[in-house]
Amino acid sequence: MQTSFVTHLECSLTGEIYPAGEVHNLSRAGRPLLVRYDTDALRGVLTRAVLAARPPGMWKWRELLPLPTGWDPVSLGEVETPLLPLARLSAKAGATPVLVKDEGRLPTGSFKARGLAMAISMARHFGTKSVALPTNGNAGAALGAYARAAGMDATVICPAETPLINVTETAAYGAQVFVADGQIDECGRLVGEGAAAGRWFDLSTLKEPYRAEGKKVMGLELAEQLGWRLPDAIFYPTGGGTGLIGMWKAFAELEAVGLIGPERPRMVAIQAEGCAPMVRAWERGDEFAERWEGAATMATGIRVPKAVGDFLILRAVRESGGAALAVSEEGIAAGVRDAAHDDGILLCPEGGAVLAGWRLALERGLVSRNEQVMLFNCAAGNKYPLPDSAIRIRLAEVSGATL
Ligand SMILES: *Cc1c(COP(=O)(O)O)cnc(C)c1O
Repeated sequence: MQTSFVTHLECSLTGEIYPAGEVHNLSRAGRPLLVRYDTDALRGVLTRAVLAARPPGMWKWRELLPLPTGWDPVSLGEVETPLLPLARLSAKAGATPVLVKDEGRLPTGSFKARGLAMAISMARHFGTKSVALPTNGNAGAALGAYARAAGMDATVICPAETPLINVTETAAYGAQVFVADGQIDECGRLVGEGAAAGRWFDLSTLKEPYRAEGKKVMGLELAEQLGWRLPDAIFYPTGGGTGLIGMWKAFAELEAVGLIGPERPRMVAIQAEGCAPMVRAWERGDEFAERWEGAATMATGIRVPKAVGDFLILRAVRESGGAALAVSEEGIAAGVRDAAHDDGILLCPEGGAVLAGWRLALERGLVSRNEQVMLFNCAAGNKYPLPDSAIRIRLAEVSGATL
């Protein structure tokens, strides 16, 4: 009896094949493993009509996800996230409304919920009792929540500059939180050492195969929401790149199943000027990205100096005819402010970076004003420290009795 449509896993660099039904981290080449499905068996079976009849949300895509039938997912309510037009802001730029896919609506306020719902579901299926990962914040909170939902112990190691709200949120779930003096890749090394010592299973981004499968749902969902057409360009805040890699994979699977044609959006990877290893590699034409030294940006979710899936990000950007762009801290802050002021949408700083990236792409002629553009906002804006200058002005007015 078929218990899932997974045929095997495959090393993303060498193509070496690994069996499904076993616990995996990286391939023998030290690179991410990708899950492969029997898409032929799903042609004419997983149809648009079948999908339309299902309740919205992550688990309607069950045939294209790795969890075997008979196993309930570990779920905290992974909603289908809305597509919101930045109507006024786009009009000011003389552009047709860009859309924001607002991933901040997911449990724990970020799209890390998608990846961890999937990875923890698989970990529970394999009997894992203890899990850990390095984080700049949102992955830690999502791990804390999903690990508890599955009855597992969770450990999180984060850099000292991780926003306090993420640290306290993670701790609130009863996770063990270590704040370390170093960047996320250095925290990742500690997690790896703990895993090698048998203390926990390593759930680092792309160092196990299933977080990417969860994040891939963004691409599946987007296609259906747009009436089975993909946008002209997708702007994505790129840290480890799981979401970008996942969506690129999702589009190939949708085509293989017969749900969409060969058209693809241009994938635009957005990074901050203070941490832009993918942009540097893309500009140089390199296949892999060197570590970025001295990484610093307020958009902590994309403060990732070194990514194990670097070549997969760069491949998707190149194959799609996209770009990799770095934006300034001022541009990020302006993006957050303007989307909130103009359209009532509070982006997270990474979302502000994406908006700044779209503005930069318009300026450089990389995208035109009448194209359909999708911006990803991957966390709720109110999870982050916000500027308080507006409040102080109000208080001054009150104390001066000018009301
Ligand atoms: C983790 C994170 C990112 C980066 O996501 P990747 O898919 O790992 O590149 C972007 N934005 C926010 C808010 C995040 O939490």
